[in-house]
Amino acid sequence: MTHTEVAYVYFELAPTATYRRRRIGFFPGDKLGDSRSATLRIVQEKAKRSRERDEIDEYGVVETFERVHNGARAFLLRNPDNPVDTEFYRVEVYLGAGPKWATCTCRAGTSRTAPSCKHRDGLLKVIEEGVLCPLRPSRRR
Ligand SMILES: [Zn+2]
Repeated sequence: MTHTEVAYVYFELAPTATYRRRRIGFFPGDKLGDSRSATLRIVQEKAKRSRERDEIDEYGVVETFERVHNGARAFLLRNPDNPVDTEFYRVEVYLGAGPKWATCTCRAGTSRTAPSCKHRDGLLKVIEEGVLCPLRPSRRR
């Protein structure tokens, strides 16, 4: 990691069958000078094979106002550490509606059988905790 280390605020997510512990690190603002709104760090600890290291993914988050449904907020997540992963994941959440109505364009998020998506769950958590900028008035940019 060549990044400047920053202080994350951590929140716990509910465990899943695969991960016994999931944590979301949140850093507000532009950490890398790439105009992101925030940085999400997702730390997952496998339920089995406990000697494996935690899986850590870091994403730059940008809010988007393109093609957003009424009552929702949409975000683009990009992992700059993963050269293969050059595409954005688009996450859309309805405030107060929980994970049922949230969407993500990643493989887990678009699968009908996957129980959860870490991007969707992570963003929902930081919005519920009130740390990812409050809902802006319907200003377009
Ligand atoms: Zn996802």
